[in-house]
Amino acid sequence: MDGQLRIGAVGAVPWLRHPVTLARRVLDDGEHAFLVGRGALEFAALHDIHPEAPEALVTERARRRLEAERAGRLAPSATGDTVGACAVDASGRVAAASSTGGISYKRRGRVGDSPLAGAGLYADDAAGAATATGHGESILRALVTRHAIEWLRAGEAARAAAEEAVAELERRTGGQGGLVVVDRAGRVGQARNTRYLPWASVQEGRREGGT
Ligand code: ASP
Repeated sequence: MDGQLRIGAVGAVPWLRHPVTLARRVLDDGEHAFLVGRGALEFAALHDIHPEAPEALVTERARRRLEAERAGRLAPSATGDTVGACAVDASGRVAAASSTGGISYKRRGRVGDSPLAGAGLYADDAAGAATATGHGESILRALVTRHAIEWLRAGEAARAAAEEAVAELERRTGGQGGLVVVDRAGRVGQARNTRYLPWASVQEGRREGGT
């Protein structure tokens, strides 16, 4: 999503290694905002993006974790592998992207918050950009990233906007999640009610990060 409120999203595409690349094509094409499943793959073929076997996209680490959970050596975890990114250019134009395999043990056909504007991500040149991770069903009910952007618009700092949005998530749904928020001046803030939220930022070569 870019700060002009242009959206490109794809869902139910476990065959794609880089779904954000296809989402970008949907955005640039501009006819539709969200394509799923077979239709998304047909659109992908038009752009020379080709499916792979879903098993080929499972990492060794994820495979070992699942085995350990099945064998009772590790407590089952419902958390996913979402990667969210927010960007701001020198003139204050913003964008956000998110990619995920979703939560573990989900039903086939389940789409979470990650591709949905206002839930998994939001971008508005008038305020900033935000991405979310956590329990998708809760995040999409509370529209947490849109919520964070509204706090930015009201003059809150990025950190405070992220905290308000996580508080709203918890208060309204009881769900767990974390947010990264960037305002149009490039100030970064994060908040979470999960145990960890690994994050990193780069600004004019200066790197920061944390968990
Ligand atoms: N939010 C993602 C989902 O529910 C999972 C995650 O962030 O790890 O699909």
